[in-house]
Amino acid sequence: MISIVIPAYNEDKNLEILIPRIKFVMELTDFEYEAIIVDDGSIDDTFNVLKKLKEKHSFLKTINLKENSGQSKAIWEGFKTAKGETVITMDADLQNDPQNIVKILESFEGIEMVCGCRKKRQDNWIKKTSSKIANFIRKKSLSSPIIDSACGFKAIKKECLQKIEFFDGIHRFLPDLFLRQGFKVKQIEIDHKPRMHGKSNYNIRNRAFKAFFDLIKVKFKFYDKK
Ligand code: UDP
Ligand code: MG
Repeated sequence: MISIVIPAYNEDKNLEILIPRIKFVMELTDFEYEAIIVDDGSIDDTFNVLKKLKEKHSFLKTINLKENSGQSKAIWEGFKTAKGETVITMDADLQNDPQNIVKILESFEGIEMVCGCRKKRQDNWIKKTSSKIANFIRKKSLSSPIIDSACGFKAIKKECLQKIEFFDGIHRFLPDLFLRQGFKVKQIEIDHKPRMHGKSNYNIRNRAFKAFFDLIKVKFKFYDKK
C-alpha cells in the first residue's frame, strides 16, 4: 500500500484541485493507496474543504493539528498514521504535480528513499538564491550528494523511519539522515510549478537561520538515533 502524506497550512483552494488529481494519477497504477492530509492548524477554509472532500473520496484521511506546528511536525504526524509500507510526501500547494508520483514509484526499487530535485524551480529569485546558498553550505558541511534536500516530493520506506529521531526542521535533512544510516537514496528530477493560490510559509527570516542552526546540530550528530 502507498500512503501519500501531505502537510497543509491554509491550502483550501489548492486541496480542492489536488485531491481529484491524486485520484486520477493513482488510478493509473495498480497500487492500493491512501492520502493523509495533515491540516496544520489552518485558519482558512481547509477544515471544511477537507470535510467535503472526504465525503466523496474514501481514500482520503485527515489529521487536524490544533495549532500551526510546522511542516516537519505535520509530516511526522502523517507518518505515524500511514498504513503503507511506502510513504510518499508532497506539498499541498500544487507546486508538486501529482503526475510525478508515477515516476517516483518507478524509481523506488531496492532502495530506501527517492528524493525529488526541482527542475526549473518556479519561485521568486530571493527564494531560489537563498535555497542555492543553503544547499551549497549543507552539501559542503555534511559532504552530501543531495542536491535539493528540502524538495517536498519524496518516497520513503516507512520502516526506516524507526531509525530516525524527530526534530523540528527535519524535513530539510531527511535524505542526509537516511544516507547516514546506510540507506540508499536516489535523486530524480521533477518539475515544479508556481504557487497559484495561498502563500508561501517561508522567508529568509524564518528559514535561513533556523535551517543553519539545524544544520549545525545535524552535523554534530545531536539528532542521530543510537
Ligand atoms: N506547511 C505546513 N505547515 C507550515 C508550513 C508549511 O503544513 O507551518 C505546508 C504547506 O501547506 C505546503 C508545504 O508545507 O504544503 C510547503 O510549504 P510552502 O509551500 O509554504 O513552502 P515553499 O514551497 O514556499 O518552500
Ligand atoms: Mg510551496
